[in-house]
This record gives sequence, structure tokens and C-alpha cells, in this order.
Amino acid sequence: MIKFFNTLGGKIETFRPLQEGTVKLYTCGPTVYDFAHIGNYRAYMFEDLLKRFLLFMGYDVIHVMNITDVDDKTIKGANDQGVSLTEYTEKYVQSFFEDLETLRIKKAAHYPRATENIQEMADMVKGLLEKGYAYEREGNYYFNIAKFSNYGKLSNIDQRELKTGVRIDSDEYEKESVQDFALWKAPKEGEPFWETEIGPGRPGWHIECSVMSAKYLGDTFDIHCGGVDNIFPHHENEIAQSEAFSEKKFVNYWIHCQHLIRDGEKMSKSRGNIITTQELIKNHGADPMALRLLLLSTHYRKMLNFTFEALNQAKSSLERINNFINLLASKKLAEGESQGITDLVKNMMKNFIKGLNDDLNISVALTALFEMIRKANVLFSQSKILKKDAEKLVASINSVDEVLNIVDFPPNIRFKKLRGRIEEKSNVFAEISFEKKGEELPKEAMEKVNLREKARAEKNFKLADKIRDDLLAQGIVLEDTKDGIRWKIIKK
Ligand code: AMP
Ligand code: ZN
Repeated sequence: MIKFFNTLGGKIETFRPLQEGTVKLYTCGPTVYDFAHIGNYRAYMFEDLLKRFLLFMGYDVIHVMNITDVDDKTIKGANDQGVSLTEYTEKYVQSFFEDLETLRIKKAAHYPRATENIQEMADMVKGLLEKGYAYEREGNYYFNIAKFSNYGKLSNIDQRELKTGVRIDSDEYEKESVQDFALWKAPKEGEPFWETEIGPGRPGWHIECSVMSAKYLGDTFDIHCGGVDNIFPHHENEIAQSEAFSEKKFVNYWIHCQHLIRDGEKMSKSRGNIITTQELIKNHGADPMALRLLLLSTHYRKMLNFTFEALNQAKSSLERINNFINLLASKKLAEGESQGITDLVKNMMKNFIKGLNDDLNISVALTALFEMIRKANVLFSQSKILKKDAEKLVASINSVDEVLNIVDFPPNIRFKKLRGRIEEKSNVFAEISFEKKGEELPKEAMEKVNLREKARAEKNFKLADKIRDDLLAQGIVLEDTKDGIRWKIIKK
């Protein structure tokens, strides 16, 4: 049974999707006014863990992530640079998608952009006006929070604090300003606007998510995520708009992650302490998979303190996994299998799943994995690992890597696709073989083959080609086939 901490209600709850076997998930995406920083990726990585775990447990997941390409911040940025909104936001959108690939974050089913859903937003404002939840002032439309009796249920706002009839125009504000918030903003000098049924203007930030989630997931869906800074006002306002409009419950489970901090403060552009994924890789030589592991490895409800030391530790942990697999895959082992390893593997899988079932407790899950590797390394040094044992160990890592997605398997390992529900997962360990893809290569050459596979996976084709040419100069021909890479030694 999977359990999550639901911000709505403030307690751990057993997860039950509305439709058996399918999870509808909405996560607030980037506001494309700058390059996303690793604080943002803390949130997207936690959502990736959540999604991959649900998939691993056999659910279908329909994931929608919006792109906020019109709001106060994007408009200001475009105006400051004297370029159109689209020209300004596009480079950040592209960089965001590149980062997702670099960090191996699974793509959502839909990435709707706010600017492509403006008429639908005007329609929702119109509906709220007709139902008496919204009012107009000089072409601006506001949500009347006094009309929505459940206002504050997510962020636990004291109803007595509500400053009803007082309006706030900016998209972002603190709890001290619990006021009627802007749904739609009338055109201002130098701002982009759209002609709609409710008049010209542009949407407020909050209405964007209410509209885009309903469009793809329906009025009621299972999980909505974001960072804790989204709880108020963004998500509180989404609930008010959506529930007032549809007269149905908006979301069953609200799951929020804590911040990534640096030098004791939340990483954010306004604090000037941001660092981007590309900066880490290009200027600090960071391994993207070490960053992925670092972002994954602190429980989502705890703050994650970013330091270079922590990044180095993540790199060592990653190497422990990769070295272990390479060790097993490169040695000729005696035929046979042992009960001890079967038990070790089963225990690891059991504890890995048990940890994540418990509100995504990644620490328990990772401890299970590293404990198995530690114990198996000892057995290996005592020559107690047999061929089938090695295959089971590697297959179990491949299985949990469906969730972690951090491991680079050597190209001579072949897996049968591990699909199916969780009951079947505990029986998958034998479905692996160490395939011979050609004559045995010297260790350094094999390392180069692995490096090239990694470069190809990261779409670094320049490096991949260079490695292939280097190997060719040594008399090793690589051939990329549909079953993977093969090689031939043409001269000794
Ligand atoms: P934004 O582009 O500012 O709207 O943020 C996009 C997502 O990143 C939201 O879910 C935020 O809650 C999240 N976020 C922003 N800064 C941090 C941080 N320092 N740590 C964790 N999540 C963050
Ligand atoms: Zn949102």
C-alpha cells in the first residue's frame, strides 16, 4: 500500500486513485523568465521519483506539466530586454527541455503553455463571474475570496485574517496579504494582451493551472505537486477557482516538496544564490547522474542542503553502484547459484519498495540497495558469487533503476524488458544474461565502449564519434545494431 503525506488535511494517507490502475498527475512547471536552477530541479526530481515509483508499481500515469510563459515575471523580462514575449521565453523553454534530458527526468504526457490556452482562461473567468465568485474593476477581474467558504483549507489560513474586498494585483504575495486576487489583468502600457469575450487582457498566474489541469485531467484528479512555496497563494487560489467553477473537488492528494537550500537560504533568483545544471556540469565538471542522485536522495519533505561536498559524495555512491556492476559483468564466474544471494536480492527489493511505499522514503530505499552491494562485494572478494547470482544481483539493480534511473549498464548486459505489476517484480531476477558481443576486449577498450554508450545516451555524438575513431585506430571496429553495440578486433 502506498502512503503519502497529503498537505490537504496535513496527514499521511493511503493512496487510492480515482480510477483503478491510472494516476492523473499535475505538477506546476517552470515560469520561463530565466534558466531553471537546481532548486527548481529539486521539485521536478521529486516529481520524477513519485511518477517513476507509481509506474514501477504498475500504475499508468498521465502526467501534465504546464509551462508558464506569460505572467508578471516573463512580461517584465521581455520588456526589460525590449523583445517579444515569445522571443524572450523560448530560449528558457528549450533549455528546460535540455535539462530534463540531461537529468534523465521522464517526460510528461503534455506540456501545455499558458499562451496557447488564453481563450479557455477567459472562459473560466466568465464562468466565475456568472456564478458570483468574480467581479470586475476597470477591466481587471478578481476572485472574491469571501464567497468561497473553503478558502484557506490547504494552507490553513485563519478565516478571520481574510481581508475581503481588498485586492491584490501581483501574482505572488505573502500570507499577510490574503486578499481578492487577480484572475485577469486589463492591458497596461507595453504589456501583451489578448482579445477575449471578457475583454482584452491577460491571465493571472493562478488561473493558468486551473484551466490547463482541467483540460487534460478533468475537473477532479488524483495528485497535484509543487514546492512548498506553491502552497500559498498559488495552490490555495487554484483550489478556489477550480472548485468554485466546477462545483467538484479539485484534487485528492496535494504533495509538496521542501526547498533546496544553499548557505542556509532557499535557492532562488531573488536571493542571488542560484546555480544551474549546466553551470554545474560545464564549470564544475559535475556528473549529471551524481546531481540526479543528490537531488533524489533526501526525503522530499526535508530541506536539501546543496554543497559541493554532498555532490562529491553522490558521485562516490554512484561509482559504488557502477563499479559493482562492472565487476560482476567483467569476470568469468563459476556456473551455479546460491540461496544466500537469492535472499539478499529479495530482501533488497522488499525493503526498497517498503521504503518508497512509506511516503517515498528514499533513504530507506537507497540503504537497501547499498547494503546489498556492500554484502555482495564481501562475498565476491571471497569468491562466493556464482554466475546466476551475479545475474540476479545485476537484474535487481536494473529493476530498482526503473525508479532511480542513475545507472549506466555496460553494453554487454542484456535485459529482458521488465514489465508488469508488483507481484511479478519479485520474480524477475533471472531474466538477464551477460551477452557476449564479440571477442573479449582489453579492460581500457571496454571502458571506452562504455564511455561511448554513455555519451550516446547523453546525445553527445561528437564525443561518441571521437571514441569510435580512437578505438578504430587501435583496431577495434564498433557496430551499432538494433540489439545494441557489437565489436570486432581487426588487428592484434
Ligand atoms: P517557479 O519557476 O519559480 O514557478 O518554480 C517552479 C517550481 O520549482 C515550483 O514547484 C517551485 O515550488 C519549485 N522551486 C523553486 N525554488 C525551489 C527551491 N529552492 N527548492 C525546491 N523547489 C523549488
Ligand atoms: Zn501551477
